Order: sequence, then C-alpha cells, then structure tokens
Amino acid sequence: MIELLTPAQLDEMRPAGAFVGEVLSALSEAADVGVNLLDLDALAHEMIRKRGAESCYIDYHPSFGAMPFGKVLCTSVNDAVLHGLPHDYKLKDGDLASLDFAVSVDGWVCDSAISVIVGTPREEDQRLIDQAQEALDAAISVARAGNKVGDISAAIGAVGRSHGLAINTQFGGHGVGRTMHGDPHIPNDGRAGRGFTLQPGLVIAIEPWFLHSTDEIVMDGDGWTIRSADGSRGAHVEHTIAITDGDPIIMTARS
Ligand code: MG
Repeated sequence: MIELLTPAQLDEMRPAGAFVGEVLSALSEAADVGVNLLDLDALAHEMIRKRGAESCYIDYHPSFGAMPFGKVLCTSVNDAVLHGLPHDYKLKDGDLASLDFAVSVDGWVCDSAISVIVGTPREEDQRLIDQAQEALDAAISVARAGNKVGDISAAIGAVGRSHGLAINTQFGGHGVGRTMHGDPHIPNDGRAGRGFTLQPGLVIAIEPWFLHSTDEIVMDGDGWTIRSADGSRGAHVEHTIAITDGDPIIMTARS
C-alpha cells in the first residue's frame, strides 16, 4: 500500500530527517584512520539514546536474515556496499566506507546514506562517490508530482551508464513513512514514463549505489553484508525525500 502524507504530517516528519542528517554528519567526521566500525555504531547508538529516537535496524529481521541485525548502523567498507554489519575492524588509510542509517523519531522514519573516504582517497573511489551523488541529484530533480517512478529509475540508470557502470537493480529505493520499507519500490534503473505516478505527500528513499566494475553481488558469511562479486569497491548515497506540489523536500539534508 502506498501512503500519501498531508503537509502537516510532512512537517511532523522533518525532525526525523534532520536527526538522521545530524548523525551522518557526526559519523562522517568521526570516520578516521584507526577508528573501529563498532565505535561508529556506538556513537550512533548514543545519539539515538540521547534523542529518544528508535533504531529501525537493531531488531530488523527480514526473512533472509539469520538473526536480528543487532546494530543501529550499516557500515559497508570497500568491496562491501550495502547492509554492512558493523564488526571489529579498524578503518585504514584510503578505505571507502558507506554508512546507512535509519531511525524513527516521534513515529516517523527517515533513511539516508553517505559514502566517505578515510584518509588519503584513491582518485577512482572519489569519482565513484561523485557518480553516485550525480545519480541521486538527477533522480531528485525528476521527483516531482505527475512524473513516474520509472522517471526516477531511468535518471539513475542514465547517469550510471554515462560513466560506463553496470547497474544492479536487486536493491533500490522504497517508500518511507511509519516504517522503513514501504511501496513503491524504486529500482536503480528502468524505463521513463512507467510505473506509479508520483503524487504530493509521497515520501521515498532514493538510493543509487554503484560498483567499479560489476553489477554482481555476493552475500558475506555474516548473512547481511553485500559485497561486489569481483572485489571491486562500491559507493552508496541515499536521501529520504517528499514529493510536493513544487520542489521535493529533502528530509535528510545535511547542514
Ligand atoms: Mg538506507
């Protein structure tokens, strides 16, 4: 079911988005050479506690999961790109880390992700992050009432292909509201003009992710972390946005 929120409900959702942005900003500053992924998770957990927010991840237990996720943050490093389960690993110079974070504040969920490079960047990694960001910006620019979900998908796919990237459509964007995952599903590639018509009050997470040299993925032995099949690195960026009568609201914008 697709839920459309009233303007008043969209206003109620804003604090959740602002908090998600605040946490991701703090995490990107904290992510440094020698910092353990478990410390990043602990920092996010402490911010959740202080804010009185509720993690969408800690008890998350979908059918494919062997057990509840148990952490409040996804940390996907280098060849890991999605759903990275924080573990005892200290970030190294040049690591590419994608951080994905979703919480509920006052009953409203927002979901966002960033990719950061720790220490000295490899040029091709920074380029991949920029390409994912370019895809997100292109997707947001067509996220307008009257357009279709397929327009968002096509915008992401066009940017990826323009950079010679192969695009995986198994995991993509989704509706957001009272819960983390709702309809519609928003694949990261598709045909313009197809699918659900975007309407004011629709809230969606748009999340392009790209791998350097493949669109094939494999599941890590931890049952959560998704890695590239060829060991190449990945980048992932995500915002929760609301469709309006005019420009979309970027709920999870970071200051
Ligand atoms: Mg997310």
